[in-house]
Amino acid sequence: MDDEDPSPLRRFVEAKRSITSIFDQLLDFVKDGSAFVDEAGRSDDLDPAALEQQSVEVRSCVSKLRTIRDVLLRRHMKVAFFGRTSNGKSTVINAMLRERVLPSGIGHTTNCFLSVEGTDGDQAYLHTEASPERRSLTTVNQLAHALHMDPTLESGSLVRVFWPQSCCALLRDHLVLMDSPGTDVTLELDSWIDKFCLDADVFVLVGNAESTLMNTEKLFFHKVSERISKPNIFILLNRWDASVSEPEYMEKVRKQHVDRCVSFLSDELRTLAVDEAPGRIFFVSAREVLSSRMQRAQGMPETGETGETGETGETGGALAEGFQDRLREFQRFERTLEEVISQSAVKTKFEQHAVTARQVSQLVTAVMDDINIASADRKICCLEEREERRDRLDFVRGQIHHLRDDVRDKIKTLSEDVSAKVTSALSDQTCSLPVLVEEFRCDFSPTHENLQIYKTKLLQHVDERLVGCLAHRCSAGVLRDIRDAQRHMIDGVRPLLSPSVQEQLFAPSSCFELTYDLGLAVLCADFQENIEFQFSLGWTALVSRFIGAANAKRALSGGEPRPQEASGFKDEVVVSIATGLASVTSRASMTVLVIGGVVWRCVGWRPLGVSLSLYGLLYLYEKLTWTDASRERVLKQQFVEHAARRLRTVIPVTSSACSQQVCKELMATLGRLSERVERSSAQLEGHVRQLSLRIQRLENIQRRSKAFRNRATELETQLDSFSARFLTGN
Ligand code: GDP
Repeated sequence: MDDEDPSPLRRFVEAKRSITSIFDQLLDFVKDGSAFVDEAGRSDDLDPAALEQQSVEVRSCVSKLRTIRDVLLRRHMKVAFFGRTSNGKSTVINAMLRERVLPSGIGHTTNCFLSVEGTDGDQAYLHTEASPERRSLTTVNQLAHALHMDPTLESGSLVRVFWPQSCCALLRDHLVLMDSPGTDVTLELDSWIDKFCLDADVFVLVGNAESTLMNTEKLFFHKVSERISKPNIFILLNRWDASVSEPEYMEKVRKQHVDRCVSFLSDELRTLAVDEAPGRIFFVSAREVLSSRMQRAQGMPETGETGETGETGETGGALAEGFQDRLREFQRFERTLEEVISQSAVKTKFEQHAVTARQVSQLVTAVMDDINIASADRKICCLEEREERRDRLDFVRGQIHHLRDDVRDKIKTLSEDVSAKVTSALSDQTCSLPVLVEEFRCDFSPTHENLQIYKTKLLQHVDERLVGCLAHRCSAGVLRDIRDAQRHMIDGVRPLLSPSVQEQLFAPSSCFELTYDLGLAVLCADFQENIEFQFSLGWTALVSRFIGAANAKRALSGGEPRPQEASGFKDEVVVSIATGLASVTSRASMTVLVIGGVVWRCVGWRPLGVSLSLYGLLYLYEKLTWTDASRERVLKQQFVEHAARRLRTVIPVTSSACSQQVCKELMATLGRLSERVERSSAQLEGHVRQLSLRIQRLENIQRRSKAFRNRATELETQLDSFSARFLTGN
């Protein structure tokens, strides 16, 4: 009949399974949470100090949960039996277990506590505090022998007996029954309580119905109720079978016992109300119940159930009258004890853990919320910063584009200015070439070698003076313009650069020099002087004066005009006249004499003679004054003409070369500055990329912290249903 009824103890088993499962999930959850917080801390995206603190908090929860989970796994319901020696404590335990597990009737021979709990295996064993190795047991006599003979067993020590659950249904439900040595055999009640009673869910005082409650028994429970608030106490008045011998006093005796026990529980200990206390007092005969149950276990009909009556006997002989009532009372005791112990154990053993679990869950939730909020805040900052950087990047790109166009225009204008300046300066210098040549001083000698040296030095002098004058007129202004342009570029670029790149910004170049490579030596390499004597009224001189020296030379030498020199129409006319004259000269030398004869016949020989004399004198004079100085002057004059002609041809080339130098210098500056801007832009792009990655990481953190929060909520829901099912309404 007991087996058909589901035991109230199952409630404890289910509650234990439920809370252990919650703790398992909670432990996994908190371990995952701890790893997540550590990971978030390593990423440097959030405040590492705050995360370190949170990590410590969550880690402490992990260790706390591990400890609680281990405790939960070991949790049993514990019933502690107390009472004087030989009152029948061991017999009561055996009757409840339906098997003779503990030796009975060994009296004062052992002062040990004996606990009986279930084991999964099919072999019973024990271990003691002194030697925790397993000692196998097969019979109760072995246990009695072990208790008697073990010299290591100290008074008040614990011997744990593990009995196969398959043999005792009660042990399957995580119940531990603890037998005590007898409250009359010790003075160490306090240490007993500390050691064995603080975790007991129910206390059973096994009294003797044949006598009254003793002071030692009462004293013990007084001490228990001082340490534990409202302990659950049952009073079993055992050996009630003996009352059969005096049936006329039975009710009276029963009433006396009940009154005393009620007074003890409600008035003295104050653990129960007066109306509740009778429900905890039972009149039983453990020996009869054990005997009956063992018979049934051995396949014999259980006397109690068949309603047989007869003489009492531990070996299962005939039972005393009224056994049925005593058996029912014992069953009622068992049922009440199971209900009370289950309720009490669930509450005392799991309620606090449920509270702790909730606190842990709330703490982790708070941490996850903090992380979520911090990552959301950080993300907003990052988004704003990224937006700012992107705007700046667009601004920099736009500005550098404008600046490049602006600077190119400026360079073009400046180059044209430089070209115009150099052209003007070189033209002026070409005009003042006679002065430059005139101021040249060097020994002059008409020998070929000396003339070469003279001309080389003259070229050097003219070149140096020309370059010097050009530099004097142009360089300073051009350099100033270049620096202004460079400063303008730097000022334009500076706001576009990042502070680190700004530091590397250079000052306008001071090493630039405008060079004027006229190449005069090459230009005048073909200069050929003509410093032979030439009579000013000579035929050649007259022709030269009339048509120019070069044309005259050609005409007189009868040579053909060179194509490049005869390119102009005017030149062609002059050359044709010269050629005509030359042909006339060649034919008319005799004609001159004829004309001279005609003149002589017309004017007479005197004027003719005077004219010829004057002509001769003039020739003589010029011949005599044709000195080296005259030759040098003529050479210089010829050089001036030649150099001026050549210089005029190279003016555009030189000015263009100068403007190109300026252009190159400024373009180089623009290039360097553009490169700085590119570097700055690349830095900005890098920042934008980093910010995007950081935003992604923060979103991930946010998502995961939210998922943790949801898991915590789910666990709290499980805790709520656990509390509703097992803790509230008890
Ligand atoms: P303990 O010292 O309190 O553990 O008592 P035990 O269980 O060892 O019992 C002591 C003696 O009392 C044993 O000889 C038992 O057989 C006997 N005894 C136990 N219960 C009863 C009972 O209900 N009726 C009678 N008549 N004797 C009992």
